[in-house]
Amino acid sequence: MFSYRHGFHAGNHADVLKHMVLIAVLKHLTAKPTAVTIVDTHAGAGLYRLDSDFAGTSGEAQDGIVKLLASPLAAEPPPLLADYLELLAGFNPSGRTKIYPGSPFVTHALMRQEARDRLWLFELHPTDSKALAGHVDQLERKRQVSIRREDGFEGLRALLPPPSRRGLVLIDPSYEIKSDYAKVAHCIQESLKKFATGTYMVWYPVIPRPEAHELPRRLKTLANQAGKPWLHATLNIGQAPHEPGEAAGRPGLTASGVFLVNPPHTLKAALQAALPPIAEVLGRGRGQGQAVEAGG
Ligand code: SAM
Repeated sequence: MFSYRHGFHAGNHADVLKHMVLIAVLKHLTAKPTAVTIVDTHAGAGLYRLDSDFAGTSGEAQDGIVKLLASPLAAEPPPLLADYLELLAGFNPSGRTKIYPGSPFVTHALMRQEARDRLWLFELHPTDSKALAGHVDQLERKRQVSIRREDGFEGLRALLPPPSRRGLVLIDPSYEIKSDYAKVAHCIQESLKKFATGTYMVWYPVIPRPEAHELPRRLKTLANQAGKPWLHATLNIGQAPHEPGEAAGRPGLTASGVFLVNPPHTLKAALQAALPPIAEVLGRGRGQGQAVEAGG
């Protein structure tokens, strides 16, 4: 455990999907004046430099946000993408995208002081939780943010239902240990019993592993059993064809998905407009594509 560091992956295609959807959900929740509580069970370090040693090692942002920004789509983005690019621009006033906000900072950017929105962040990695605390300490509205170096699945239990009765739970594990898949499903099942009207958003990797394949199916079943609407979206950038002489293997993560319970009713249509052109821009070849389905 603990070999995963999000800094290597910041701004990749998975972050594009996750953070774009996160922004859409938060905009929907904050459209009403009542307070919103957000729990981020796996927060990461919060802020990343795209020109750091970390990000440079794998260059994953090159196949994600960097590629999107350089494409004609950035000049005429569909609304969901426009909101994401606008938020990103706010972190990079020079016009060059050097800083990439992770979920805690994406969320914080959309929180309202006057409505008393509240953010809970859980991060277990000693280095990342220290970095997160340092980044949050720079914020003006840090009193609305609490950081815990604890297990996010455990910590969430004590926070549900939130006093605000309006809330979002983001569950974004690194899935380094395969028990994370079962923990996510169990967490959704238990949380829905305590806070049935909350919005839940789970990110997961689309990889050839039975647990990963099963997870969206299990989540669908749980949402259906609870009588709650759900939405499932995937983005796949496909495999790049090998250059002559290039070593085979090491394709990295090519696809990921987000599964939401109690999603905003406008999200399906918004994703159906945004994801096809994004998949087209980020697509590298075999397997590329996207899908959006909803039910309940
Ligand atoms: N949500 C972040 C974002 O979008 O910017 C990225 C999070 S990263 C995919 C997953 C993080 O969860 C890692 O930083 C890892 O150290 C942390 N982690 C792993 N197991 C955890 C647990 N049980 N509770 C809290 N954090 C955990």
